[in-house]
Amino acid sequence: MSNISTDLPSKITTDIDFDKPGVQHGALTMPYSHNLSPWGSILMPVSVFAGGTGPTVLLVGGNHGDEYEGPIACMKLIRELDIDKLTGRVIVIPALNYPAVKNGTRLSPIDGKNMNRAFPGDRAGTVTDMIADYVQRFILPLCDAVADIHAGGRMMSFLPTSVIHRLADARHMDRTLEAAKAFNAPNCLVLEELDPQGMLDTAVEELGTLFISTELGGGGSMSVETVRIAYDGMRNLLVHMGVLSEPLRKNGDTRFLETPDGAFVTAEQDGILEFAAELGQKVSAGEAIAYIHDIDRPMAAPAVYRAPLDGIVMHRHVAGLIGRGDCLSVIAVEI
Ligand SMILES: [Zn+2]
Repeated sequence: MSNISTDLPSKITTDIDFDKPGVQHGALTMPYSHNLSPWGSILMPVSVFAGGTGPTVLLVGGNHGDEYEGPIACMKLIRELDIDKLTGRVIVIPALNYPAVKNGTRLSPIDGKNMNRAFPGDRAGTVTDMIADYVQRFILPLCDAVADIHAGGRMMSFLPTSVIHRLADARHMDRTLEAAKAFNAPNCLVLEELDPQGMLDTAVEELGTLFISTELGGGGSMSVETVRIAYDGMRNLLVHMGVLSEPLRKNGDTRFLETPDGAFVTAEQDGILEFAAELGQKVSAGEAIAYIHDIDRPMAAPAVYRAPLDGIVMHRHVAGLIGRGDCLSVIAVEI
C-alpha cells in the first residue's frame, strides 16, 4: 500500500469538487510561466459524473500524446454518459499528458518527460511530475478501478488488445482477469512489464486497485474498430464495476495472450524496415518476419529477423526507418 502523504498541497488547483453529486466539466490548472504567457497556466480538462453511492472508476486517455483512441473515446463518453444510469462516480481525463496531446508527441514538449515513467510524481517538479503527483495523491485514492487507454503511437502498431499484468496477489489477479473479460477487447495480453517503475499501472496496482490498459492499433492514427474497442471497453468496465446500468457490449470472446521470454525482437542495425508478416499472423519459430535494408549498400542482402518462437505477431515497429535498439516486433502466444 502507498504511504504517500496528501498533507503537502499540490501546485495544481481545480474547479472540480470530486465529492459533489452531478456532472462537472472543469480543469486541473497548473502554473506554467513561459515566454509567450509569463503568468500563464495549463488547463487540463477533467470531467466527473457522480450519481448515487457506488464505486469510482477513472478513465484515462492521452497518457502518451500520440495515441488517439483514448482521447477520442473519453470525449465521446463525456458527451454521452447519462448521469441517471450511474450508481457511483466516473472521473474522465481525456488527455493525461495534456501538453503532449496538444503537441501530437509521446513525450511532453515542455519537459521531455514520459508521463508513464513519472509516477509517483513530484509536486515541486516539472509539469509532467506535477500532473503525476496530483493523480497519485488526490485522484487514485478515490478510485476502485482505472482504465488507461494506450495505442501504438507514431512508431508502433499493435494487434488490438487490452493489457493486464501478472499480479502476485491471487485475488487481485482474478479480479483483473474478470475485468479484462468484461472489457471485451478481441485480445488481452497478460504482461510482465520490462520496466514497471514510474508507470501509472504500477501506481494503481500498488494501491490494490483494479487496473486495465490497452494497446490499440497505432501508426499515430486510429481506426473505426480501435476507437470502438476503447469506447465499448470503458463502458463495459463501468458496467462490470456496477457503476453503469446497461447490457455489456459483447463482440465475441477475448483471446488471452502472453509474451514468453525471448518474445521481444530488437533491431540490431539502423535501416529501412520491410515487414514480412502482418499483425495477427501466426508465425513459426525461425520464420522470417522482417528485413532491415541498408540504403548505402543496395547490393548487400538485408538483415533477416526471424520469429523467436511459434506465436502470433502482436506488435510491429511501424515507421519505415528503424534504429539499432528499437523494438522491431513482439510475438505473443495464446494462453
Ligand atoms: Zn502509450
